[in-house]
Amino acid sequence: MIYLDYAAHAPADPAVLERFCDMERRFPANPNSVHAAGKTAREEMARVTEQIAALTGASPAEVIFTSGATEANNLAIKGIAQASRHIGKHIISTPLEHSSVSGSLTALQERGWEIDLLSIGRDGTVDPEEVRELLRPDTVLVAICAVDSELGTIQPVNEIAALLADHPNCRLHVDATQAIGRIPVDFSGIDTLSFAPHKFGGICGSGVLLKRSRMPLEPQMNGGASTTLYRSGTPALGLAASSALALQLACDERESRYAVVQRHSEQLRKALATYPAVHINSPEHAVPHILNLSVKNVKGTVFQRALSEKGVCVSVKSACSADGLPSRAVFAVSRDRRNALSSWRISLSHLTTDAEIDEFLSVFDACYHELVK
Ligand code: PLP
Repeated sequence: MIYLDYAAHAPADPAVLERFCDMERRFPANPNSVHAAGKTAREEMARVTEQIAALTGASPAEVIFTSGATEANNLAIKGIAQASRHIGKHIISTPLEHSSVSGSLTALQERGWEIDLLSIGRDGTVDPEEVRELLRPDTVLVAICAVDSELGTIQPVNEIAALLADHPNCRLHVDATQAIGRIPVDFSGIDTLSFAPHKFGGICGSGVLLKRSRMPLEPQMNGGASTTLYRSGTPALGLAASSALALQLACDERESRYAVVQRHSEQLRKALATYPAVHINSPEHAVPHILNLSVKNVKGTVFQRALSEKGVCVSVKSACSADGLPSRAVFAVSRDRRNALSSWRISLSHLTTDAEIDEFLSVFDACYHELVK
């Protein structure tokens, strides 16, 4: 099998798995318990939280562990909106967001919030000037991904953060799920930032929300204070410790990992460009980890199934979005519905080998000649 769907999930690093098992063995107690075993587990939880804070430029009190980026996005968006409803109910976002962001926004819209979506340029980015134009006294949130999951476009998050500095009632939520561990991410100027360690060698079921201290946020889960007021439940020490290690490894090795991915991405772009029916949708300046393409007049789902039958795993849109609809992100950059319906995504990691790229290209060639008439 050739796995080219690392943006959906990356395998846990063996050292991370080992850390998880070790923590589960060494700390059998609930960190919320007040007995000696609970206190030891809580101290370890504090140590792990400090490690994540140090790696992300946050303080330990700003780290909230969640079950994944979906939960982190829901908590940030709904929590900010509900905590600021006395100020206003206007939110600005983009058509490139993951369904956990767009779904949270739709849920708010149904309850009376007003959502404005920014336009996407041909290069896949939003224009911070348009954010300035859309801002109103009742705007309480701008929600934007640092890197989108379908095209891999890098958004001008720091510029947006800078212009929001003059709007203290408007919060900035950044979904950094496809950015952390791949490109440098800066928490400064951002109110909440979500990511999921299972995208870069952590364990599935782990997520993090960084939340600026003293910023009001309505919890979405009730059930006691735990290690933070904002997310109840028994703290998952094993997952938190494995997340910290995955993040440490991803940060330490970021440049060397990036170089491997970039080399493979360039090879793929060059080889795929020789097929007349192929259109590369990911902008030139996208992260190399994500390569979105369309094969003219062949639905993305059809090409993906053909590749899958030959042992190659790629995605159509992101793994969590509804099937059968054209990709909103690809439509935004190509303004072409048929092209958006034909799109699918290769996503790479530093684990991808030269042999896998060669094998992928040969399977792609076979599918192309079967499906393109
Ligand atoms: N945000 C982005 C940009 C993503 O790509 C994903 C997953 O693909 C998510 C959020 C949701 O992450 P999780 O699977 O951890 O809930």
